[in-house]
Amino acid sequence: LLCDLDGTLQPLAEAKVSVMDRGFLFGDGVYEAMPVYGRRIFRFDQHMARLARNLDKLRIPAPLDRDGWLARIRRLIDAHAAEDQIVYLQVTRGVAMREHVMLPGLTPTVFLFSQPMRPVPAEQRHHGVACVTARDLRWARGDIKSISLLGNVMARQVSADAGAAETLLLRDGEPGGPWLTEGASSNAWIVHEGALLGPPMDGHVLEGIRVALLRELCEEEGIAFNLRPLSEADLRAADEVLLSSTGKEVLAVTRIDGEPVGHGALRGKPGPVYARLFEAYQRAKCE
Ligand code: PLP
Repeated sequence: LLCDLDGTLQPLAEAKVSVMDRGFLFGDGVYEAMPVYGRRIFRFDQHMARLARNLDKLRIPAPLDRDGWLARIRRLIDAHAAEDQIVYLQVTRGVAMREHVMLPGLTPTVFLFSQPMRPVPAEQRHHGVACVTARDLRWARGDIKSISLLGNVMARQVSADAGAAETLLLRDGEPGGPWLTEGASSNAWIVHEGALLGPPMDGHVLEGIRVALLRELCEEEGIAFNLRPLSEADLRAADEVLLSSTGKEVLAVTRIDGEPVGHGALRGKPGPVYARLFEAYQRAKCE
């Protein structure tokens, strides 16, 4: 595998950054992960807009403009054989003596690599996945796509230990909660009375690029779409539960904490809203 470190294409195993990089010392940086289908970057402009917003929030100067990023990413994609890839990129504030203050004037470290996309296994497509819930103990700036992912790593391990595919996070809060926030590395959705419902995109949730995409797909499909607080009770009573992310696309959750999701004949099975959104997603990829 090849990577691009500060504009130089090189073998991934040989790329080196300074131990004084603020990404290494503080997790002081942001990242993106974007899908590539048939060598075309899916939703490139949306990923770039989110990256620009995140850099802005952290006062890291934009190292490249849109076309600069596009050229770097294209070159990386072209250096790999796979038609479908996932491109990862990260920007850290740069190298300096250790000091918490956001030192200005540093040169950001820009790192990208690409991997062949591993399609979601057919078994998961047909039967959905099991999830477990855990308390959301992360900070209140989940809107920033920060490389500091320890809270997400710890959350994901809860489901890994249980042999489940993802951890659904529940945040303590006002009466009526706990509240569904998201997965450890995905957005979480429920279906209630035929509508796709997600939590509000506030500081407790990373607004996935698939959030706006699912809104559009719901519009096309005539499925009601709404973002509003979703309680643990809403989650457990849902007709369907879905995940979305770059790697999972849209995926049905058919068990939560060992209990089958849904009601009646569809209990424990992927539901009709999932099926329609999955098909719509596949069409959108090819447009
Ligand atoms: N939430 C978290 C915490 C994530 O890490 C991700 C990344 O995949 C998402 C949501 C979904 O974002 P996207 O649709 O941009 O992949």
